Amino acid sequence: MNSIQILERLIAFDTTSTKSNLELIDFVRNLLDDHGIGSRLVESDDRSRANLYATLGPDDRGGVMLSGHTDVVPTAGQDWQSDPYRLEAGDDRLYGRGSCDMKGFIACVLAALPRMAEAPLETPLHFAFSYDEEIGCVGARRLADALAGFEIRPKLGIIGEPTSMQMVTGHKGKLSYRVTFTGLSCHSAYITSGVNAVEYAAELVAFIRGMNRRVQERNQVDASYSVPHSTFHVGNIRGGTALNIVPSECSFEFEIRNLPQDDLDALAHEIRHYADEVLLPDMQARHPDSGIRFDEISHYPGLHTPRDSTVIGYTRAINPVDEFGDNVSFGTEAGLFDDIGINCVVCGPGSIEQAHRPDEFVSREQLAHCDRLLENLVHRARERSEFA
Ligand SMILES: [Zn+2]
Repeated sequence: MNSIQILERLIAFDTTSTKSNLELIDFVRNLLDDHGIGSRLVESDDRSRANLYATLGPDDRGGVMLSGHTDVVPTAGQDWQSDPYRLEAGDDRLYGRGSCDMKGFIACVLAALPRMAEAPLETPLHFAFSYDEEIGCVGARRLADALAGFEIRPKLGIIGEPTSMQMVTGHKGKLSYRVTFTGLSCHSAYITSGVNAVEYAAELVAFIRGMNRRVQERNQVDASYSVPHSTFHVGNIRGGTALNIVPSECSFEFEIRNLPQDDLDALAHEIRHYADEVLLPDMQARHPDSGIRFDEISHYPGLHTPRDSTVIGYTRAINPVDEFGDNVSFGTEAGLFDDIGINCVVCGPGSIEQAHRPDEFVSREQLAHCDRLLENLVHRARERSEFA
């Protein structure tokens, strides 16, 4: 099967995040089995989803990892011209949910499998296909944890998120929380007897908003990003029942998107510190059962691959177009793998502009470009033993 035929199969699996991806994983496993290649699964807690990891070639040295997420974003509420789970082939474009983000890349990798398997590789190639990337790199975090325990890990990683096949070497990280304030309810005529959860939450919201200014004044800026500093944002808030009742509950969600040069945990700590050391004592002085709870929603690190790193030189050598892409605003799994010593670059077919949208598509030309990169990769992996 060529990459388009495989893409057709992959799109037909509805692997919307949090739904099972096991049928797709089985499909991949069977293809690997056909070539006598074993794979291991790293499953979710309820075992309804799995990451797949496979090594082709020698298993005593590092090699190159090809990584992609198998999940897709939902189509609910989107106006599609065709069935999103059936590949619709136009003259230049191939439509379907996940066509560019990022089943197109996985299809190209699988289409190259017979060539990877037919002759011995000197440098191993690894497949790392994850689940639930779109809801915060959930699966890849597990996979990275598992990989961290392996004696031999990939040295380089190509993360095939849609970059129009340009090499992207940087993106921001992200950490998001739900914060729940618990105060004490009472009649609003007697506010001194209560603890107003909405008002305390509002103080933290204002503090988070102020972080944008403080970080710009204090931390570095990086002009290669369209928003050149770490950002803080509150996305929703809910609290209170009626005007004449002091509200006892309020919760909101916020996110931090950090430049990889800024310490994400330190930024989060500043916000938690203000909540725990300034707001909470004040609340508890009014009523001892008052509380502020932080629940993490998602967390992934940024990527900052230096231009002189090995993965850049390597990818330039095998990519027919060796342009660098701008740093991107969207997150990927690259930072997680980078954290365990796998030097990563983001490079894949299709444009992020088509991702997550109705009538998502990848062009035939982009898939062909990715096919060529993989062909060059296989050629090089056969010729040379690298990254031992
Ligand atoms: Zn993606």
